[in-house]
Amino acid sequence: LLFIFNSSCKENAKGNTEIKPDGIEQKVTSLLAKMTLEEKIGQMNQYNGFWDVTGPMPSSGDAAKKYEHLKKGYVGSMLNVRGVKEVKAVQKIAVEETRLGIPLIIGFDVIHGYETLSPIPLAEASSWDLEAIKKSAEVAAKEAAAAGINWTFAPMVDISRDARWGRVMEGAGEDPFLGSKIAVARVEGFQGDDLSSSETIAACAKHWAGYGFSESGRDYNTVDVGTSTLNNIIFPPFKAAADAGVKTFMNSFNELNGIPATGNAFLQRDILKGKWNYDGFVVSDWGSINEMMAHGFAEDKKAAAKLAVTAGSDMDMESYAYVDELANLVSEGQVDEALIDDAVKRILRVKFELGLFDDPYKYCDSETEKEVIGSKEINDAVLDVAKKSIVLLKNENQILPLKKSGQNIALIGALAADKTSPLGSWRIAAKDSTAISVLEGMQQYSENKLMYAKGADLVYGETTFAKELNINISDKSEFSEAVSVAKSADVVVMVLGEHGFQSGEARSRTNLDLPGVQQELLEAVFSVNKNIVLVLNNGRPLAITWADKHIPAIVEAWQLGTQSGHAIAQVLYGDYNPSGKLPMSFPRHVGQVPIYYNYKNTGRPVIPAPNEVFWSHYTDESNKPLYPFGHGLSYTTFSYSNLQIEKVNEDEVEVSVDVKNTGDVQGKEVVQLYIRDLVASITRPVKELKGFELIALNPYEKRTVKFILTKNELGFFDNSGVFVFESGDFKVFVGGSSETVLEQDFEL
Ligand code: BGC
Repeated sequence: LLFIFNSSCKENAKGNTEIKPDGIEQKVTSLLAKMTLEEKIGQMNQYNGFWDVTGPMPSSGDAAKKYEHLKKGYVGSMLNVRGVKEVKAVQKIAVEETRLGIPLIIGFDVIHGYETLSPIPLAEASSWDLEAIKKSAEVAAKEAAAAGINWTFAPMVDISRDARWGRVMEGAGEDPFLGSKIAVARVEGFQGDDLSSSETIAACAKHWAGYGFSESGRDYNTVDVGTSTLNNIIFPPFKAAADAGVKTFMNSFNELNGIPATGNAFLQRDILKGKWNYDGFVVSDWGSINEMMAHGFAEDKKAAAKLAVTAGSDMDMESYAYVDELANLVSEGQVDEALIDDAVKRILRVKFELGLFDDPYKYCDSETEKEVIGSKEINDAVLDVAKKSIVLLKNENQILPLKKSGQNIALIGALAADKTSPLGSWRIAAKDSTAISVLEGMQQYSENKLMYAKGADLVYGETTFAKELNINISDKSEFSEAVSVAKSADVVVMVLGEHGFQSGEARSRTNLDLPGVQQELLEAVFSVNKNIVLVLNNGRPLAITWADKHIPAIVEAWQLGTQSGHAIAQVLYGDYNPSGKLPMSFPRHVGQVPIYYNYKNTGRPVIPAPNEVFWSHYTDESNKPLYPFGHGLSYTTFSYSNLQIEKVNEDEVEVSVDVKNTGDVQGKEVVQLYIRDLVASITRPVKELKGFELIALNPYEKRTVKFILTKNELGFFDNSGVFVFESGDFKVFVGGSSETVLEQDFEL
């Protein structure tokens, strides 16, 4: 047998050192041939961390069952075991106590960092800076790997148009083109060029598919979407991740058009493993195999296991369905063992690629763990991407940047001093109070007199959480102090928004206003001092229509992670000129949601500008967002001119545009290119992003930016899922947001 194995393997074939890394297929096949059915099924079983793995082994209950399974080789992966000591302890059992010594793959939600946190993914997406995003994933992988982890459940590449859905914080926003580029950057960052390095980890594109389109923005809810939306909006970032070599996919809790994603053969077999020829593995979402019973799709756990494995779910996260039911299903002839073999091969392949068979403890070096976690390299990278993630939404009268001295500044809001909330959701390994607060940041970057007042308690949820925490959400007793410091200040900086746990999984909201009494606090302060800079901390677009009308400067700072306060202070004081652009439309009112720039026209005519009345309209609110997709200002201004389109050949055109920095500071601009297919066999959006470039321009510098448009950008998926290009008339739009400034028609 041509098979090499780690040295502690009991059935180690000796002396085959000539096998090269590209012999992985052979190694997988050889190993598979040695495995019993139960051992194979074991590889498809993933358990959550279950006891103090470094202490005495459990003798009863659920943990004892898991431990027994681990010793028998009936566990292929564990999640939420973290830190070298813990990972080593469980890995040792897998490697030294089981018959075949197959190492575990250790999964963890490294969503925006491990212990040192980058901005939440939606914030990072606002940078449109693929290098910075890639670097952020790269350092996250490095830190997680140093803590024993070798697989992250990221990136989440679900497109969403619904700010009520709390998980928009974890994605890249509403656009499939931007989402695809960011998906690739993140996959490349996590996995690097060499997956067998001990600084890179396997990535996971999730949640396959449709999770971001849950009805009413309620997490886990029903998803019912047509083929055009599926193919043209939902699938592209997944396809991009697959093409970038993402090692794993995670399926989803939701049903899609009547079939739960976990039992969905169309998604997993036909599209992913069929049409896309994907050779990685699919892990279920947490307990999602069992959830098919509640969906009314499987009558019991056994039926759920059968449906899931048949549909192409390779690994069972915490349902116990495979480990308990698959062997019987195979022996009864209900499930073909070939399906099991296929799943196991996929899982083993990734383990071989990670180099776990060469050294199962390669991620378990406690010296590296000490050196790498919280290192300067990691903190520098997360600060860099944090600055780039900030979006300047409004800046009237050039109130920003603030002067560095000689000003009395009132800093107001519970979030201004908070050292935990900026970490955002998905921060399992990060310790409380480890973020730099805005207060700390501002103290560091200026000599101004800073007067802080909380104003109101940080409200962490309108009803449910406030009750849990016993917070009085209508307490205004501290307003008067805030009003009094505001009165004597030259400028007021108010940090308002959502608590870090107000968005994220299971954190859907029906209201997109500032939570709690913050709107009233803002108005109370405004009544004594209009010179306000509003800094928003939030995990989703908010409907801040009143603020937009009255407050002169608004800075979208999201939840920026560990270095939050430094990044915000650098932007407020002009040490960093903001360049972020929104990856999601901001509604004027929650009732407009879902609202997105790449909508389609109705058949009803539109009365053109200046009135621009859509006949498909609301009687009480405009159709327009408060801030459109792609919007973001700078401390300088840019002008666009000289849009030219030239046909390069039968298949492509070149679009060029001159962009000039018209102000007297250096600045960066995301030059955005959109297209519209004017007439097509299925209706096309009024605008679709098809190119962008982040450029830096010195004062008064002008640059020509060029884009190539091919049939790939101009085509679309028809309703049978086939990519088509239809020749005809197109429009190109260019500008610094989706509300573009130049446009021109062309034919191809
Ligand atoms: C989430 C996944 C996550 C998993 C493991 C689930 O509840 O939907 O995105 O990776 O838990 O923590």
